This record gives sequence, C-alpha cells and structure tokens, in this order.
Amino acid sequence: MNTLREFIEEINKERFGEAVFRGEVRYNEPMAAHTTFRVGGPADCWIRPHGDIFPEYAETLRGAAKARGIPVFVLGAGANLVVADRGIRGIVLDTGGWAGFDAAGSGAAGARSVFIRSGTPVDAAAEAAAEAGLGGLEFLAGMPGSIGGAVWMNARCYGRSLSDCLVETEILEARGKRIMPYRAEDFSYKKSPFQGRDTLILGARFALTPRPEQEIRDEMAALRRDRTMKGHYRFPSAGSAFKNNRSWGKPAGQIIDEVGLRGLSRGGAAVAEWHGNIIINRENARAEDIRSLVREVTARVRAARGIELEPEILFAGEWEEASPSA
Ligand SMILES: Cc1cc2nc3c(=O)[nH]c(=O)nc-3n(C[C@H](O)[C@H](O)[C@H](O)COP(=O)(O)OP(=O)(O)OC[C@H]3O[C@@H](n4cnc5c(N)ncnc54)[C@H](O)[C@@H]3O)c2cc1C
Repeated sequence: MNTLREFIEEINKERFGEAVFRGEVRYNEPMAAHTTFRVGGPADCWIRPHGDIFPEYAETLRGAAKARGIPVFVLGAGANLVVADRGIRGIVLDTGGWAGFDAAGSGAAGARSVFIRSGTPVDAAAEAAAEAGLGGLEFLAGMPGSIGGAVWMNARCYGRSLSDCLVETEILEARGKRIMPYRAEDFSYKKSPFQGRDTLILGARFALTPRPEQEIRDEMAALRRDRTMKGHYRFPSAGSAFKNNRSWGKPAGQIIDEVGLRGLSRGGAAVAEWHGNIIINRENARAEDIRSLVREVTARVRAARGIELEPEILFAGEWEEASPSA
C-alpha cells in the first residue's frame, strides 16, 4: 500500500488536478492548533479544502479513504474537543474553508429560510443574519464553533437549541448527498441524529424571522458581554465540561461547586476557580491532564452525591486506553 501522502497527492492531483484543488494539506499537524482547548497531538494528515470544491472533494476523499481503511475525522472549529496527546490517526477533514450564508430563500408565515454552510463560524452566521435583518440565531453570538459542529451537538445556550430554528440538514453519507428534513423526535438536549453515524454535515437551512437589525445587535452584544463576564474566554477551554440534567434540579456546575471542586487540578488542567462546569487549560495542559481531571470530578461527584455526570466535551484521537466518550 502506498503512503498516506501518496494517497492524498493522488486524489488532489490526479482526480482533482492541481488547478482545481484549493486548500491546505499538512502532515503531522498538531491538533493543539485547531482546538479551543489548545491540546492535542499530531494528525497524520490535516486537510482544509477551500471554497466550492468542498462537497465533491469530501465525497471523493471519504469514499477512497473508506476503500483503503483510512479513518477520516470531521473537524469543525474544535470547540468541543479534547484530542489525545498521541493525536489522530488517518485524515482530519477540516470544514473551515467551506463557509457561507445564503439568505435567498423564503419560508412559511413570513419567515425567511437561509442556508448556511457547515464550516461557517456560528458567531459569523449570527452576524450575517443580523446584517440581513433576520432574527433567530442571536443566541449563538459569542459561542465558538461551526454550524456543522453546532448541528451535530444540537448546541444549546440561553434557553435555545439549534434545532429550534432548523428546517433541514444537507448531509453526505456513503450513499451520497441528501437533504434530511428536521423532525422533532430526532433532536433533544445536546443530541442530534448525526451522533454515532458516519455523516458529514454539509450545511443546514434555518427558518429566521425579520427583526430590526439594531434589536438583534443589542441582544447579541449583551450575550457576548455575559459570556465575557462569566469568564468563557479567560483560558483555553471547550465550554461546559459536563452536560446538565433536569432531574438533578440544579446545573452540573452548581453540583460541582457544592462538592467543593472549583480549582481542583491535574497537571496543567483545572476546574475554573470561578465556574464549576468549566475545565480550563491553565498552563500547558496535556490532553491526559484534562481526561484525568474529568474522571476525578466524575468520581468525586458520584461519591458525594450519587450523581453520574456525563461529559459534554468529546474525547477524540488515539488514547492509551479507552476514553470516556467517543
Ligand atoms: C468558550 C466556549 C463556550 C461554549 N459555550 C457553549 C454553549 O453555550 N453551548 C453549547 O452547546 N456549546 C458551547 N461550547 C461548545 C462548542 O462551542 C459547541 O459544542 C460547538 O457546537 C462545537 O462546534 P465545533 O464546530 O467546534 O465542533 P468540533 O468541536 O470541531 O466537533 C464536535 C463534534 O462534531 C463533529 N462535527 C463537527 N463538524 C461536523 C460536520 N460538518 N459534519 C459532521 N460532524 C461534524 C465532530 O466530528 C465532533 O464529533 C462552548 C465552547 C467554548 C470554547
């Protein structure tokens, strides 16, 4: 079998032609550079195609890689990931070069339907909606992440989930490209039908509502201020470390606070001093520090309260032993 480099070069040159493939390809690329936690060892190969070739390229690459048994990991903005210190074997397909917002569609009852490409940062999508005088995405202002990752996670904040305004998702699977209409039963708290499936989200259509631009901008500015005040950007992190669960009667962060775990640390990773549900990369943390801290917090909360915390952050890549999530 030829090397990964030869495999990629064959796809990029012979199937796409040098003039057609546009994008970045790097080997042994440190994933710390592509995650908000700033941890993670090298990906064997990291590829970020640029522009309109993305869907066709992704289909060709994923098909050929599957035939060779080469894993392909889809990367959004890396805002919910802890990538192992050993890195990721195979190919990381970065959606960051596939961005754009199309507000041409019209929807039911005065709503406007917009299509947003998966690599678009959610904050930029909210900005573009504001500029078009369309409300519905304000809640995403200031949240790191891409539209693809936010659909995959069914991202939620300030009382709204992404699925609240989702109309349909354009996806790529082994059978090819198709549109998956939104069905309420497929989505719930931080759950989407794409988890645990080999699906690449190409983009999503949302129903937005006309709203005065200034009102939208004021709400977005207030949410960004709130995140800043809550210390979201003080240190590298992936936002909330654990999921909430209504049956506990209080947020996971409050339970962690009550058990006295603020400031608890493992190596360079720590539970934030100011928020029980944020784990931060305080100083040169390794991915293993974060994983071991997640386990420690989980064990202490279980022992003190009999509550089983579930990590919201995702563990990806090649770990020395089984990771707490896929
Ligand atoms: C400071 C901070 C605050 C945060 N606040 C919130 C918050 O309030 N609410 C919230 O829900 N989250 C929050 N997060 C977490 C994060 O922003 C979201 O989970 C976001 O949706 C992740 O998107 P991403 O593009 O970064 O996905 P990534 O982290 O890159 O990937 C996450 C998962 O999605 C998959 N994926 C990504 N893109 C695609 C695609 N196009 N097709 C198929 N699969 C894909 C990946 O394979 C991976 O399994 C926060 C994070 C930070 C750093």
